[in-house]
Amino acid sequence: MITLALSKGRIFDETLPLLQAAGIEVLDDPEKTRKLILATNQPDVRVVLVRATDVPTYVQYGGADLGITGLDTLIEHGNEGLYQPLDLRIAKCRVSVAVREGYDYAAAVRQGARLRVATKYVAIARDFFAAKGVHVDLIKLYGSMELAPLTGLADAIVDLVSTGNTLKANQLVEVERIMDISSRLVVNQAALKLKREPMRQIIDAFGKALEATA
Ligand code: AMP
Repeated sequence: MITLALSKGRIFDETLPLLQAAGIEVLDDPEKTRKLILATNQPDVRVVLVRATDVPTYVQYGGADLGITGLDTLIEHGNEGLYQPLDLRIAKCRVSVAVREGYDYAAAVRQGARLRVATKYVAIARDFFAAKGVHVDLIKLYGSMELAPLTGLADAIVDLVSTGNTLKANQLVEVERIMDISSRLVVNQAALKLKREPMRQIIDAFGKALEATA
């Protein structure tokens, strides 16, 4: 049995065409079922639905053989025990620094002010500001980062941005682009050795599907 860990929503939806190209069809709609283990048309392939941030953990410890997750999540989790063979080029966005409209971020940085930065992405933010030589106090949040500058909790946020509409709707502006993000296929290294053939088949089929869309 090959187990693929996916999260509901954007990643699941954008993975479906790749699965289809690999000849795999998921038999349940995750938005309609309460099941967490979904069968596919291939009796030896199943999908498990987990939180996006848990995908690397499932794959690392062998709860799933493969998984699909954003580069942001992977960087925050660390790469231990995970083999990352493919950039699937789906769920694209970027990690950026944003501040309240009217907040002079450039001046704050120039003056060497100590910035309060709220984020879910503490590893990415820590490395980014350290490389810039900007002193920051990081405040870990788990969601609704946009609120932090509006309520005075933080001067800036580090968050995912796609269209920029969420920032705009909350009177925030993007002031730095830290990195581009897309979803990656991650593989459990032991599973790759123990289930070599079926694992290779899936990885190669994903690779071919990507080439076709390149
Ligand atoms: P947008 O308004 O299009 O810039 O989207 C920003 C919101 O959607 C933020 O709250 C992000 O956390 C979330 N978001 C955007 N792109 C992604 C992605 N690829 N994966 C996960 N969350 C995303």
